[in-house]
Amino acid sequence: MSGKAQSDSAWPASHTKGAQRSILRWTRHFALCTLNPELHIGEVNFLVTGGAGFIGSHVCERLLHSNHAVWAFDDLNPFYSPAIKRRNLDEVAAAGAKFTFVHGDLSDAKELDRLFQSNRFDQVIHLAARAGVRPSLEDPALYQRVNVEGTVNVLEAARRHGVKKAILASSSSVYGVNQKVPFAESDPVASVISPYAASKVACEGLGHVYHHVHGLDVTMLRFFTVYGPRQRPDLAIHKFAQLITAGKPVPVFGDGTTARDYTFVSDIVDGIMACTERTFGYEIFNLGNSHTVTLARLIELLEQSLGKTAVLQRLPAQPGDVPITYADLAKSQRCLAYAPKVRIEEGIPRFVEWLKKRPAA
Ligand code: NAD
Repeated sequence: MSGKAQSDSAWPASHTKGAQRSILRWTRHFALCTLNPELHIGEVNFLVTGGAGFIGSHVCERLLHSNHAVWAFDDLNPFYSPAIKRRNLDEVAAAGAKFTFVHGDLSDAKELDRLFQSNRFDQVIHLAARAGVRPSLEDPALYQRVNVEGTVNVLEAARRHGVKKAILASSSSVYGVNQKVPFAESDPVASVISPYAASKVACEGLGHVYHHVHGLDVTMLRFFTVYGPRQRPDLAIHKFAQLITAGKPVPVFGDGTTARDYTFVSDIVDGIMACTERTFGYEIFNLGNSHTVTLARLIELLEQSLGKTAVLQRLPAQPGDVPITYADLAKSQRCLAYAPKVRIEEGIPRFVEWLKKRPAA
């Protein structure tokens, strides 16, 4: 009997090779998707880098509401108004007493290490980065320094100080000009078209290094265009809403057919929270909405919510912009029970409501 036949004999005769493969796959998925109760025993100390930013402030709030202790680390840089970031922090601080803000720069490895030395962090949610595709074309070195070196500094401090789990922000932009839709985590990421996207591919690689070499539990999350209250003012929905309100021209790059998978921020936070309760070793997950919306439709939805017609300024397509983003959510549904709840038709009015109420920065 050959070695292969011997190993096959461990299976009941009724199991075909296909069935065996499928059982192995499901066993692996079951192990992959199991909750790890050790991660949430007692009070858990979370460090959230970029905690003063758009997504980070929502994450800090949710963690505080879940009664965890939260440290937000942020340099409050002027990529957009630091006054907006300070206002975000004020709102986070009102969400719970166990909140500490640390003003610091990721690029300073010694400072980060001191922070990890003086506090015991159980989990790190690393969201701080220079974000934005177009600005990365103007200053690619800055994006590599903050996003790549900064991530090395966070991972180094995490492994030196016994952090149990690191959750890192990646981006749908890693799929670049992927021809296949929707984008699955197993698709190649070699066709990026901006320094920002390249920096996120590098971060995914570094996450794998720290898992493989140092055994750190690392989860990479590819966010698909996030929107909602506190959205960054440089992002299309926020920028367009302000221009339409002011009666100013809205720059439309290309013919309006570019499409994005817009994801409401509370859905992203649900996905992050699901990761905080699970151990994967190293895995990558898409967090999107899995519905595409064209630029023309987005503007229509903003017009309806704002009750104003947009003045359109037609411009050529921009370098660095991908034609479509579209998340395949099969893996995150299976392993994180991730199920986005907010459709764009509901999310845009909720964003506009927030925009109208918020005080000027
Ligand atoms: P954001 O700019 O609002 O938040 C990032 C925060 O990081 C900011 O408050 C900033 O001050 C801080 N920061 C930047 N450089 C720092 C440094 N050197 N040291 C310390 N803090 C620093 O951006 P966001 O939209 O909340 O994005 C959060 C993360 O999600 C980023 O990693 C971004 O690349 C990723 N992401 C966002 C989107 C999106 O649509 N918003 C999509 C994909 C990926």
